[in-house]
Amino acid sequence: MSEKYNPYDNVLKVVEQASEILGYPQRDCEAIKYPERELKVAVPVEMDDGTTRVFEGYRVQHSTSRGPAKGGIRYHQNVNIDEVKALAAWMTFKCAVVNIPYGGGKGGIVCDPTKLSDRELRAMTRRFTAAIAPLIGPEVDIPAPDVGTNATVMGWMMDTYSMLKGHTVPGVVTGKPIDLGGALGRNEATGRGVMFTVKNILKKMNLPVEGTDVVVQGMGNVGSVTAKLLHEEGMKVIAVSDVSGGLYDPNGLDIPAIEAYITAKRGNLLSGLELKGATRISNDELLTLKTTVLVPAALENQINGSNADKIQAKLIVEAANGPTSSEADEILKKRGIQVVPDILANAGGVVVSYFEWVQNIQSVSWTEAEVNSKLKDIMDRAFASVWDITQEKQTTLRMGAYLIAVKRVVDAKKARGIWP
Ligand code: GLU
Repeated sequence: MSEKYNPYDNVLKVVEQASEILGYPQRDCEAIKYPERELKVAVPVEMDDGTTRVFEGYRVQHSTSRGPAKGGIRYHQNVNIDEVKALAAWMTFKCAVVNIPYGGGKGGIVCDPTKLSDRELRAMTRRFTAAIAPLIGPEVDIPAPDVGTNATVMGWMMDTYSMLKGHTVPGVVTGKPIDLGGALGRNEATGRGVMFTVKNILKKMNLPVEGTDVVVQGMGNVGSVTAKLLHEEGMKVIAVSDVSGGLYDPNGLDIPAIEAYITAKRGNLLSGLELKGATRISNDELLTLKTTVLVPAALENQINGSNADKIQAKLIVEAANGPTSSEADEILKKRGIQVVPDILANAGGVVVSYFEWVQNIQSVSWTEAEVNSKLKDIMDRAFASVWDITQEKQTTLRMGAYLIAVKRVVDAKKARGIWP
């Protein structure tokens, strides 16, 4: 790789550029460059073999200017403070670009959740929740699922927090099991939002949905739902991958078969699937396939200085957070490849988290159809406003999204003033 990758530096770069284009003076923009709070915790767990292991965890609140901090909890072996800071800041700008009343936060534990038993995972989650409990709460900071966590983990977090408070507090986390006040449609929401975004950008580029080829990197919650929904919309999904590698069929993969395999064998990798007509490819090969749309739905820094000049997609829709490095962004811009940025494209998850929180606070429940149609309204409106400013200012879609988001965050901060 030709650059030293620090995701938080990526965030600062684009925020500085956006502030400059907006013509904001230093005094208005300085504070958004610093996370408001960073907490590091040690999480001791009694392992099944009788030993004690201590896992390191974090919760970062980047901003609470527009509302409580909001953002997921990641369980992954590569979690580190710079990543959590960047993910927290992306949440701030994501919530701002879709205009929901939240700031941004993120948390994580350095661990490989696939190597932990259910009991170890639950013990780790509960102890971590207790450790960050002083910082979270429905009016303060609301965690949610991210890479390596899911509704079950959110259920444990909600229960732990509620036990500590002495009463049930459904609104402390989102992405919960439906039985605990989870929103219908939340599980599919990020992928559904990505699907709306892909359709929106194809329309602007005068490309059809039906039959257009798309490549999806990552078959976790976001990637698998995205592939399924794009397939249902009539697109030709020609390649998908997970950490074990990818499957490629230029005539279009049998997505229902892949879906069935993933749901039946949760945790098993694509490398175990024999699919007629499909060839195996590596993740590197997958990213540089000739395709109309590329959807990175895995981790950060997948498209970077070393492969950006080999990308053959016409457009990239970022379902992951931070999949494109700053260096790659410059290269793609020069090459005329459109990139719909993460803070817009993958905002569907946090939008439906917001719906979940609103329902919890009001003790009401909406139908799935209601959730999906409200999500579509918000995603379509946000896309249109980003597209319009991009045309007006002649910038990339990423810069367009940041112009809107940075303006909203800075204006809120200005309206509040610096205390005391
Ligand atoms: N982890 C998701 C994201 O990165 C969802 C966060 C949330 O719902 O709060 O957007």
